[in-house]
Amino acid sequence: MIFEDWHTHNKMCHHAVGSIEDYITKAIKLKLRTIGISDHFPYEYLKNSSILIEEVPYQEYAMSLNEVDLYLSIIEKLKDKYKNRIQLRVAFEVDYFKSQESFLNLKINNSLNNLDYILGSVHTLHGKSKLFAFDDRRFLSMYKEYDSIDNIYLEYYHKLKDMITSEEFDFDVVSHFDLPKKYNKRAIDKELIINEAIKTLELVKKRDLTIEINTGGLRKKIKEQYPSLEIIEEMYELGIPILLGSDAHHPNEVGYKFKKMVKLVSRIGYNKLAHFYKRKRTFIEI
Ligand SMILES: [Zn+2]
Ligand SMILES: [Zn+2]
Repeated sequence: MIFEDWHTHNKMCHHAVGSIEDYITKAIKLKLRTIGISDHFPYEYLKNSSILIEEVPYQEYAMSLNEVDLYLSIIEKLKDKYKNRIQLRVAFEVDYFKSQESFLNLKINNSLNNLDYILGSVHTLHGKSKLFAFDDRRFLSMYKEYDSIDNIYLEYYHKLKDMITSEEFDFDVVSHFDLPKKYNKRAIDKELIINEAIKTLELVKKRDLTIEINTGGLRKKIKEQYPSLEIIEEMYELGIPILLGSDAHHPNEVGYKFKKMVKLVSRIGYNKLAHFYKRKRTFIEI
C-alpha cells in the first residue's frame, strides 16, 4: 500500500522537535512514498494588520517571516539529496484571519511558486474579550467566556466557512476539520453542531477543496482522528476528496496510524486519496 503524509512540522515553528531532515529520514524508514513538509506560516504577517497578535504567543507558533526563504531552500536541497528515496512536497499550514488576506498575500505570494499545496487552518477564536488559540491548553480558561462548548463550535464553523468562501484566501486542503473537540470537548446539542459541519462541508464541495484526515487527534485527549467518522461519512456522500496527515510535531509521529485510517476510510467507501504537486490535485489508489 502507498502511504503519503501531507501534514508535518519541524523545529522551525518552535513548538515541534527535530529538523526537516529528521522527518524525511523517518518517512523513508517507514517507506512512505511522499512526505509533505507543511510548517506553520508566520503569524508575524499580521503585525501590520488590525489583528492584535501580541495577544497570542505568535513567535512560539511559527517561524519568523525572514526565515521563510531559508525554509524553502532547505527543502529544495533535501529534495535533491533524497530524490531517489522519497518524494518531497512543499507546503505551508496557513491560519485564516478574516479580512486580513491582503496582508497574508503580500508575504506569501513570493513563495507561491515553490509550493505544492497549502493547508488552510483555524486555530484561533475571538471570544468576548480577545484573540486566543483554542487548541493551546494554556488558553483553556478562555473557554469560560462562552456559555457553552456549542458556542465555541459555532464560532469555529463560522470562521471555517469564512475561510472556505474567501476569494482572496488561496489554499487547497482544509486541516483538522473538527478541531474544537481536541480536549475531549464534545458538542452538547449534537444535531445543531453536526448541521453546521454539514453546511460547512457543502461549501468545501462547492469550492472543490480537499479535506485532510488528520491522525493528530488520536494522540490527543479526544483519541479520535479529525474529522469524526460521522463527518467523514458525510464527506464521502458529498464526494469530497481526502488525504492523510499526521500533524507530526515529532519525527516519531510521521505516518501515525495511517494503516488504521486507510482501513477506516475504505470501509466508508473511499478508494483513492488526493495527491498534490505544484498546486495540482491528482489521486492515488488505495
Ligand atoms: Zn504546530
Ligand atoms: Zn493545525
